[in-house]
Amino acid sequence: MYPSEFMAETKHGAASAAESRRVAEEAREAEWKAPSFLKQIFLGNLRLDLIHPYPEPPPERPEFREFMGRLERFLVDEVDPDAIDREGKIPPGVVQRLAELGAFGMKIPKEYGGLGFTQREYGEAMKLITSRDANLVVLLSAHQSIGVPQPLKTFGTPEQKKKYLPRLAKGEISAFALTEPQVGSDPSSLATTAVRTPEGDYVLSGEKLWCTNGTVASLFVVMARHPDTKKISAFIVEKAFPGVEIATRCHFMGLKAIENGVIRLHDVRVPKENLLWGEGKGLKLALITLNTGRLTLPASCAVVGKRCVEIARTWAAERVQWGEPVGRHDAIAQLLAEMAATTFAMEAVTDLASAMADMGDRDIRLEAAVAKMWNSEEGWKLVDRTMQIRGGRGYETADSLRSRGEPPIPVERMMRDFRINLIFEGSSEIMRLFIAREAVDRHLAVAGAFADPKAPRAKRWAALPRMAAHYGWWYPSRWAGWGRWPRFSDFGPLAGEVRWVDRATRRLARTLFHLMLVHGPKLEKRQALLFRAVDIGADLFAMSATLSRAAALRRGGVPEAGRAAELARVFCRTIRRRIGEHFRAIRSNDDVAKYATAMRVLDGEHVWLERGMAPLVVEETGAEAPRAARR
Ligand SMILES: Cc1cc2nc3c(=O)[nH]c(=O)nc-3n(C[C@H](O)[C@H](O)[C@H](O)COP(=O)(O)OP(=O)(O)OC[C@H]3O[C@@H](n4cnc5c(N)ncnc54)[C@H](O)[C@@H]3O)c2cc1C
Repeated sequence: MYPSEFMAETKHGAASAAESRRVAEEAREAEWKAPSFLKQIFLGNLRLDLIHPYPEPPPERPEFREFMGRLERFLVDEVDPDAIDREGKIPPGVVQRLAELGAFGMKIPKEYGGLGFTQREYGEAMKLITSRDANLVVLLSAHQSIGVPQPLKTFGTPEQKKKYLPRLAKGEISAFALTEPQVGSDPSSLATTAVRTPEGDYVLSGEKLWCTNGTVASLFVVMARHPDTKKISAFIVEKAFPGVEIATRCHFMGLKAIENGVIRLHDVRVPKENLLWGEGKGLKLALITLNTGRLTLPASCAVVGKRCVEIARTWAAERVQWGEPVGRHDAIAQLLAEMAATTFAMEAVTDLASAMADMGDRDIRLEAAVAKMWNSEEGWKLVDRTMQIRGGRGYETADSLRSRGEPPIPVERMMRDFRINLIFEGSSEIMRLFIAREAVDRHLAVAGAFADPKAPRAKRWAALPRMAAHYGWWYPSRWAGWGRWPRFSDFGPLAGEVRWVDRATRRLARTLFHLMLVHGPKLEKRQALLFRAVDIGADLFAMSATLSRAAALRRGGVPEAGRAAELARVFCRTIRRRIGEHFRAIRSNDDVAKYATAMRVLDGEHVWLERGMAPLVVEETGAEAPRAARR
């Protein structure tokens, strides 16, 4: 395996697949200047010192507490989530009040008129907002987790910051525009162009899809490609610039009130002062912005988990069927225990990642990606289980429940609003690809040239001494570490779980190495195998965060410490089984056979299965769309 071939192949021509990989590799931050807990996990080192002791939240600043009080009163008194969902619109008065509260400037430094919150404080505020309405979170997050303020803060010139940050802090809404009709997860075919004028300005042309806040924003970060160099740059574009057209508002399964739209740029002249960071650095900027930008989403997911536990607990205790509350029937009880344990873990993961971002002395790009992927996937299961436990009432809308005189518990809306979390801000698959690339990075650096069949023979042989020096020490030490008693005894009754994590970490590193030996460069095509290794790494991170959080509560003598330890233990036991299954499936699986079947499905050889249905799409003229199934 070698870096240039890591990202996925497409069937549509080697050139475009190679181009996708080249663009991804170019945008990748190749250097690891600060230590990374997860990177070390994949190398077989449990660097607990990077996450343990679990970072205590700093004492709450009085001004932050005061803000949270005002925010909560506003959410309770002035936000009607059912009406927002029903009408598909956040009332302008609510947006205005958010601006007055300073919510559009939470992450903007005080010197520019913002509230200057830390990542953790911002996360706390977003959690509180999530507990009331997901549309508001998406509005604020698209604005300041990925919209103009974040890249401007990190990469803007002093002049750019002075010009735009105060406007953004006051409540001007911003948006992030990367996606295009042909550009989803893969930015390599970005078609929006940025042509340099003789004066050094740029003329932007193209169409952006699904731009959240796009229909109400006055400022955009737009990604566009220079036709001469083919590189991608990021620009601040004002809606007021001639040629910016807000074409359509898009509507979705959930998040009914987000202002998401198609933006067209018709020869929009953008002054050179609005280029962010530098020509050709747009994708790197987007990736770095997302390192912390994507931490909002897992924080929101953790709160959805808490809400699910609350709903499931209450209903399972209250609803009596077959002579007992449903929560006392074993099948539902099992769900409840896992839901509570997972929620404790989700909060441990997100708070840890946010605290690490604030520390600033460690590299959190893998932790942020895992937090996003892991919390969104676990959160989705929690929502699904909550719906199961609520039974028919879970599927019924809040308005309908209310009209029948029952409490309007919006599980149906939660489910609709939640699902997108596994798709946007880096889909689960793209997160796994990104993590897998970094998981094998050290091996690529040491042995990449040797395994690269396209590398010149001399270069391949020259890699041998380096490999011998590295693996001669590294590999035996992945077997020899001590992961048994009395190590980690400061974790008290949970020390055994930490020892298990330590042993599994070394096993994961050995497994990755074996996979590379067996599959060589072809491993990049075996996503199912690689993704199992990624999932083991993600689960080990979640276990470590959970155990460290439980230990911190015990150390702090908080009254719930014993209960927290109980949840941590249930969580670890469940995840240990899951990790065991992943290891087993890496050794023995049907991946190759399934891939072959999938190719036959793609080639239409199983279209026979689709017979007997009315057409999926009926064209507007009333004519039936062509039906492959009738072939
Ligand atoms: C409600 C909503 C809000 C959005 N907001 C914004 C926004 O503000 N700004 C913006 O720029 N974009 C936004 N997007 C776009 C969003 O980021 C994309 O939907 C996302 O990047 C995925 O792209 P896609 O939907 O085109 O899926 P595709 O890239 O077409 O992928 C389809 C499926 O294939 C998988 N896949 C793709 N490549 C691979 C691979 N190499 N290996 C394995 N699996 C793969 C994907 O994970 C996915 O499951 C938004 C989308 C929605 C629905």
